[in-house]
Amino acid sequence: MLPLRGAEHPPLPPIAPMFEHSVLPGHAKSEDQHRHEICVAGRWMYERGFIVACEGNVSVRLTPDRILTTPTCMNKGALRPADLVVTNLDGKQISGERKASSELAMHLLFYRMRPDVHAICHAHPPTATGFAVAGRALDQALLPEVIIGLCQIPLVRYGTPGTPELSAALEPFVSHYDAMLLANHGAVTCAPDLLTAFFRMETIEHSAKITLAAEMAGTPELLSGREVAKLMAARSRYSAEAPPGGGAELPITSDSNDHEDSQVTLTRNELDALIDEAVRKDRARR
Ligand SMILES: [Zn+2]
Repeated sequence: MLPLRGAEHPPLPPIAPMFEHSVLPGHAKSEDQHRHEICVAGRWMYERGFIVACEGNVSVRLTPDRILTTPTCMNKGALRPADLVVTNLDGKQISGERKASSELAMHLLFYRMRPDVHAICHAHPPTATGFAVAGRALDQALLPEVIIGLCQIPLVRYGTPGTPELSAALEPFVSHYDAMLLANHGAVTCAPDLLTAFFRMETIEHSAKITLAAEMAGTPELLSGREVAKLMAARSRYSAEAPPGGGAELPITSDSNDHEDSQVTLTRNELDALIDEAVRKDRARR
């Protein structure tokens, strides 16, 4: 009988972690750990090309009214824990030698409106931002994981970054979505913890890449309303909690146009024939 292959070998060493430092799930951590993890998340975003130069920003909620955030004018791939800044919910700086992110107002809007949110990632991932620049949401029912995790990724109308204009455009979406595209700008995600907020940013970019690839390969096949309903019902099974505000619009399905209010396209001849028939019926009634 042949010996079992490999039986004489010592057990394999554990699989090496993908990164030397990591971001742990959950939010209950010391301030030092949060500082360390924001630096790691900044490096991940930079290494994946979600940001370049001084773009993007990350924050976590330390206590109900204290926010730890990245500084402005620094590359987020090369941050040290001491570079981070603490502010209150009004944006007033409490500690840190550097200046807080110019896009802090967007983060504070989420923290004020969503007590469940403890972390935010903002970046300019190129494929997703390409959709946002083209004025397109990622709102088609294409991928089960995206529907279960995020329902859909809406497009927020353009507002000048770092101004109340952008906060006003975002506000109607904040209670209902965990991931959004910002027109002519980028993307923003929120979550109960930093790892989830980062994963949501990855999901946005991945979904944008797949949508683009599908459109280049042919015509994307949308899932039906029935399939989407099954996925939405399965959210709890995957511990994918919807934002407490509920009310997210369902993605566009293969049968979205079957409803009464859907658009109907007619040729000129078909329209003329319909008018003629209506006039004929009207005359006949008189
Ligand atoms: Zn930005």
